Amino acid sequence: MEKIKIGLAGIGKIARDQHIPALAANRAFALAATASRNARVDGVEPHASVADLVAARPDVAAISLCTPPDGRFSQAMAAIGAGRHLMLEKPPAATVSEAEALVAAAQDAGVTLFATWHSREAAEVDAARAWLANKRIDAIRIRWMEDIRQWHPGQDWILDPGGFGVFDPGINALSIATAILPDPLVVIRATLAIPENRACPIAATIAFRSGNAPVDAQFDFLQTGEQTWDIEVDTDAGTLRLRQGGARLELPGTEPLSGPNREYSRLYRRFAELIGNGRSDVDLRPLRLVADAFLVGQRKTVAPFDF
Ligand code: NAP
Repeated sequence: MEKIKIGLAGIGKIARDQHIPALAANRAFALAATASRNARVDGVEPHASVADLVAARPDVAAISLCTPPDGRFSQAMAAIGAGRHLMLEKPPAATVSEAEALVAAAQDAGVTLFATWHSREAAEVDAARAWLANKRIDAIRIRWMEDIRQWHPGQDWILDPGGFGVFDPGINALSIATAILPDPLVVIRATLAIPENRACPIAATIAFRSGNAPVDAQFDFLQTGEQTWDIEVDTDAGTLRLRQGGARLELPGTEPLSGPNREYSRLYRRFAELIGNGRSDVDLRPLRLVADAFLVGQRKTVAPFDF
């Protein structure tokens, strides 16, 4: 089978850490070109923008965007407008209205749009969903606490308007929660801690409900030492603990389960399947929850933050 030529846009941390290795190992795609203002990948044809790439390379049938969310919309529209299939890093866009416009544009153009949520592909997320499916859920705690300096060094965009702040990692927790909990999440209230020299929160607490169960979420970007990406669910059969961003599952009375990280190979396999079947996959629930937290959030100004 001939490989689908794909262009990768935004050659930064996640492109180098995950996308390039995942594409190198994928049988369906061949990395044919990049679009990045400053960066290049050895041996791959460089372009400065998605618009330039699609104009120069009609044979590149698919584009994968790894740029920050703010500014992604025009790149996405350039790809869709040129009739290319499109895969989006999370979060799919800077706003809900942008994301909805992309869905409509992809439908009109007859191309595949895949809004990825890499954390849903973590090893034990499917097992957590299956275990919870027939339980009464009483309470949920989400703790997503990481060191911005370790994981996002120098990424000023993340605290700029449209950068999501601590919701950049926090939306990963919400992508898992929306995938494993049987009932929809509803935002009740939120507190957003915003450094006085920045636009987006560096920490947040959010109260949700899921069915009758209260959900208490705490996101923190200033966690040093041990890093925490945990979801705990109290049920009538004991407490489920999904740890390490979905890689480890602890269930009552059994040995912990854990599997290897295949998040990005699974995403590219799914993208190839969607293209093959002429379908799209865009679940905007995690993005809407973040938007809702910003809508009802009580802001408090905290100490300035510098990398
Ligand atoms: P990054 O290291 O800052 O890389 C993003 C790249 O996009 C930059 O190197 C830059 O390359 C390009 N870019 C285009 N417009 C930009 C702008 N206005 N500001 C900054 N860069 C711009 O960011 P990243 O960590 O790879 O994250 C990119 C996306 O992947 C985000 O949506 C993030 O949520 C997601 N993600 C990140 C991680 C992670 O661990 N870092 C994990 C999963 C998902 P040029 O300057 O060459 O154009």
